[in-house]
Amino acid sequence: MKIACAFLAITLITLSLGLFASRSLGIAETLVVRTFDNALMSISYARASATDFANMQSVTVGLQHPGATDTAVLRERMSVLSQTLAEDLAVAAERSLSPKAAQAAQDLTAAAAAWEDAAQKLIANERSGDLDVSSRAWLDLDNQARDVAERIDLLINYTAGDGFSYRQRAIAAVRTQAWLNTVGLFITLVLSITVSVLLQRQIMRPVMAASAAAVRIASGELDTEIPGAGSDELGALLTAMERMRSDIRSMMLREVSQRRSAETRLADALESSHEGLILVNRQGEIVIANSQMARFMNTARHLLEPSTSFDNFLQAVAIGQVFGGDPRRGLAILSKPSIAEAGLTAEERLTDGRWLRVSRSTTSEGGFVTICSDITALKNREDELREINLRFEAALGNMSQGLALFDAGGRLQIANPRLIEIFRLQPEQVRPGITHRQLLGMSIAAGNHPGQTAGILYAELEERIERRKAGGHFQDLSNDRVIAISHEPTREGGWVETYEDITERRKSEAQIVFMARHDALTGLPNRILFSERVEQSIAQSGRGRGFAVLCLDLDRFKIVNDTLGHPVGDRLLRAVAERIRSCIRETDTVARLGGDEFAIVQTNLARSEDAGELAQRVVLAISRPFDIEGNQIVIGTSVGIAVGAGEQDRVDRLLKSADTALYCAKADGRGTFRFFEAEMEASLQARREMEVDLRRAIEQDEFALHFQPLIDLKTNRISAFEALVRWCHPTRGMVSPAEFIPLAEEISLILQLGDWVLKQACKEAATWPEDIIVAVNVSPVQFRNGRIFTTVQDALALSGLASSRLELEITETVMLAESDSTISTLHSLRGLGVRIAMDDFGTGYSSLSYLRSFPFDKIKIDQEFIRDLTADNDSGAIIRAIIGLGTTLGMKITAEGVETQEQLACLRAEGCHEVQGYLFSRPLPALEIKTMIANDWGDLMPVLDQIPSMVLS
Ligand code: C2E
Ligand code: MG
Ligand code: MG
Repeated sequence: MKIACAFLAITLITLSLGLFASRSLGIAETLVVRTFDNALMSISYARASATDFANMQSVTVGLQHPGATDTAVLRERMSVLSQTLAEDLAVAAERSLSPKAAQAAQDLTAAAAAWEDAAQKLIANERSGDLDVSSRAWLDLDNQARDVAERIDLLINYTAGDGFSYRQRAIAAVRTQAWLNTVGLFITLVLSITVSVLLQRQIMRPVMAASAAAVRIASGELDTEIPGAGSDELGALLTAMERMRSDIRSMMLREVSQRRSAETRLADALESSHEGLILVNRQGEIVIANSQMARFMNTARHLLEPSTSFDNFLQAVAIGQVFGGDPRRGLAILSKPSIAEAGLTAEERLTDGRWLRVSRSTTSEGGFVTICSDITALKNREDELREINLRFEAALGNMSQGLALFDAGGRLQIANPRLIEIFRLQPEQVRPGITHRQLLGMSIAAGNHPGQTAGILYAELEERIERRKAGGHFQDLSNDRVIAISHEPTREGGWVETYEDITERRKSEAQIVFMARHDALTGLPNRILFSERVEQSIAQSGRGRGFAVLCLDLDRFKIVNDTLGHPVGDRLLRAVAERIRSCIRETDTVARLGGDEFAIVQTNLARSEDAGELAQRVVLAISRPFDIEGNQIVIGTSVGIAVGAGEQDRVDRLLKSADTALYCAKADGRGTFRFFEAEMEASLQARREMEVDLRRAIEQDEFALHFQPLIDLKTNRISAFEALVRWCHPTRGMVSPAEFIPLAEEISLILQLGDWVLKQACKEAATWPEDIIVAVNVSPVQFRNGRIFTTVQDALALSGLASSRLELEITETVMLAESDSTISTLHSLRGLGVRIAMDDFGTGYSSLSYLRSFPFDKIKIDQEFIRDLTADNDSGAIIRAIIGLGTTLGMKITAEGVETQEQLACLRAEGCHEVQGYLFSRPLPALEIKTMIANDWGDLMPVLDQIPSMVLS
């Protein structure tokens, strides 16, 4: 307020001085204007009136000379000049500054006007020529002129006097104003100084004192005295400063107390910390440290008190005991860090096994802080994690599936080697960070997706990623590979994909599907698929397409399988399948129903005879010898045909019918075909009944042995009897072995029957003369079974028959296998002393080769060759050859089925050693043989005795 008043006072003083100076200048200006504008104007117009009057006088002068100007002109000129004079005088009177001058101007005007009147009159008179008048006039005029001249001078004097007095007044006024201004300036200066002094005294001093107090407060001297405050603004300021100081002081006190408690808390926190901490200042003194540090370093706590020397602490630390391994390193990581080390952490294993992490950093004031943490648990976890990682990597590496893990940004995080292997990628390319799209691009570049456009593959991929749903799909790769891809989103927003090469599985599945409907051995459709085809044919038969079902069963296959072994049997079956296939059309189906059973469904059958023709073709094809691994195998087949009757047919019914027809074909003598007829059911039924009967017959001892003699052509005496089994059926009477032996072999009943025959035959033979041998037929099934040796042993032992009196007749089918076990069994039997004969020689195809396999004691030529034997046909030649061969090999040759004297003669002529046949005797019951022997051969003797003569004749 004071400052404002002071400024206001100074402003007012300055303003009044200014106004006064301005007014003085105004006065001076007025004086100057009067002096110059009025005084000088009035002087100059007064002087101009003198000139005007002189000019007027000069007009009158012109009148005094002869020939002067016309008076009218002179008068005119006089009037003009008079007018000018009057105007100049009017201005001089108007601008005159004093009444005297104005009066003088009026008087002059009047005098000048009077002179002009006189002059005008004179001019007018001059023309009249009156000289007297004129002279007087001229004298008056001159007098008047002098009066006017005097008045002009008076006017000039008055005006000049006015100008002078005004100049004097102006000078006096300027001087007065200058003086007044000087006085005013001085007063203003004095007043300003006074105001300034007052200002200095009233305001500046307290302000400076306050300012000094503020500076001291700012520098922390909160006890500084604040000068006494008035009621003005400064007083308010000082009061505020006083309050501010007390506020700052209380704030400081609060701060200090807070800091103290914070320090206390910090100290507590440091003490309770699991980390060891030490803060060292630039001078190498400990600023702060906690007990944990002392514990870590195994030192006394007091060594870490503030202001103690850090070096003392370092010396006290038993580095060797704490850091074990390398004490120098321990010392290095505790000491003050170099600039390069600051901020780095070191991990050390302590002697007690714990791990310590030491991190050091420099402080801004040049000291350093060291923090030690016990990271044993962390290290253990790291070890565990490393171990887990190793296992994880091992697991990943050994996974049979490829695996790729992508993060939320679609970038690869993990991929295992199997993935690289499956997609044939470059391992160095498949690195973390690449995108799924890039991975697919590599796969495309590796040529995994022939025939698929990259665009579609990418689109599929994008769509899969977008969908973010767990799922799976299959991907076809090059080289017929199939990959099963499963993808599942992860919780982190990424997803994991697994890739499994399921090519083999797919193949296996296809194989399984194929196998479910096909026969594994031949690749032909199996019963299931065959049934479907029959079903289709039944359905299509309604549209006029006939069809037939043909069932085939191989003849003698079982023997091949049993004797040559399964591998050969398998290859034979494959060859058979091939031959059947070659007989049928594309639209027909051939299937293997099991074992040696095949079936054909013949479609588009125009007539049923066509089925017969197909069957015939198949029979012929199969009857041709097979060459399997060097074995010439001859088998045959029988075919049963069931012609489809229409849509009402049933698959099982048709198959059963064809099967029945097949059975009948077999029963008819094999190697043939039969169409199904309703009556066949009856014969099949009979077979079934026979099977049941046969089983019962064994149990009820319905079998009997008949014996047929063999005659030695050297002695013409009985050398042996062949035991031939007979079935005394309770209702059918005597049943031929040709009828039931194959069935007994089929249902393996031959084993029991064969045992019985052997024992029974030996038992009977034991009662015969000692030079008579018993020949027993042995089935290939008995050989296959492997029990034949012990059975023979038992039979000999039980009967007490000398082994040399037992002859076993085996057929070529036993030899077909020619396996080591068969040969060794034969040798074992030979070792017992038993004789071995080859029965039915010549019916097979490899008869001769079998002779090399085993040194048979006897060869029995099949009765087929004997039946139509004459001296000069093929049979004779064959018999001759066999006899020649046998003789060379030291084998006895026996001819079976000798019925006529011619046959006998022929055989004898060829050198056959032994004969058997109805010519001598039919097979007879054992009892009759006994009687015969008892009767010294009874009726047989004469027959024998006739032999030589018969031959001779
Ligand atoms: P096989 O071993 O060749 O026996 C000779 C067969 O020819 C016998 O038939 C016999 O009665 C018959 N036979 C003998 N002489 C003549 C003849 O002059 N004319 C004609 N037409 N036939 C004659 P059988 O007894 O019906 O036996 C047939 C086949 O049954 C035997 O042929 C044999 O292979 C088999 N067999 C007989 N008994 C047994 C046996 O106990 N065990 C085994 N495994 N097979 C037996
Ligand atoms: Mg025989
Ligand atoms: Mg025979």
